[in-house]
Amino acid sequence: MKKNVFVSILSVWIFLFTTVPSWATLNVVTTTPDLASIAKEIGGTFIQTDSLVKGYQDAHFMQPKPSYLVKMNRADLLIYQGLELEIGWLPVLLNGARNPDIRPGQPGHLNASDRIAALEIPKGEVDRSMGDVHPYGNPHYNLDPENGFILARVIGDKLSELDPENASQYKLNLDSFNKKLQEKLAQWKNQMSPFQGKEIVTYHKHWSYFSKRFGLSVIDTIELKPGVSPSVKHLSALTETMIRQKIKLILQANYIDSKFSNIVAEKTGATVLPLPVFVGGTPDAKDYFSLFDTIIEKISHVLQSNS
Ligand SMILES: [Zn+2]
Repeated sequence: MKKNVFVSILSVWIFLFTTVPSWATLNVVTTTPDLASIAKEIGGTFIQTDSLVKGYQDAHFMQPKPSYLVKMNRADLLIYQGLELEIGWLPVLLNGARNPDIRPGQPGHLNASDRIAALEIPKGEVDRSMGDVHPYGNPHYNLDPENGFILARVIGDKLSELDPENASQYKLNLDSFNKKLQEKLAQWKNQMSPFQGKEIVTYHKHWSYFSKRFGLSVIDTIELKPGVSPSVKHLSALTETMIRQKIKLILQANYIDSKFSNIVAEKTGATVLPLPVFVGGTPDAKDYFSLFDTIIEKISHVLQSNS
């Protein structure tokens, strides 16, 4: 009798903890908030998302924290931006997370940059003396909303692979995401259309994809080398160029200290515009769509008043 009770308890326990109930959600951890936002649009109620980097943080230089290890340990899927954006901290976390499902080569490991056409792939050798140069190209591709279509498809394919039962819902969500992005893209292009060919300066190469998509021309960066403070010589040469070419806008990520941009702005009369570079970078940049609403509204406002 005792043995039978034990067997029943054991089978209930096995049922509770080993079968996958229909309400189970995929636990998705992303490195950046834009990937989490797009994953949420496609995954809906079938997934839970958590981004390691917050929108107001510098994704190049994160300090690995124990809480990240816990999140990665429990993840069914890891999605990261790639092109070595997270090279300084993600490999350490992957080793420490003790989760074989999300290791490279496993189905739960997704490099979101796989199908992205990278800009600024350096020619020749890359070494540390060049600063934090990304050898596979510029990793800030999330700031071209056209890349949102590619990211949504890649993420949708992966969710369907891991959770084939709900693939038809992922497909429906993908279709409505694409439809909304198409409409928003037309609106954003329209808002930016008066500023085609406008020359600007940026602090870091955050804005290369964005500028290419919306017709701005980045003539130089405040930082001479990525991740390294600019020299006085570089700043004075840049100041001269900006005065000569009447460049009145400096864009920078809002987590970057604006002291160097301010030095240049004081001498050139340019406006320094700190902007979110990820979802959550400001309270109004709530998702991938409102991120661009925010950025474009602010840029067009400054360019309008400069012209
Ligand atoms: Zn960068």
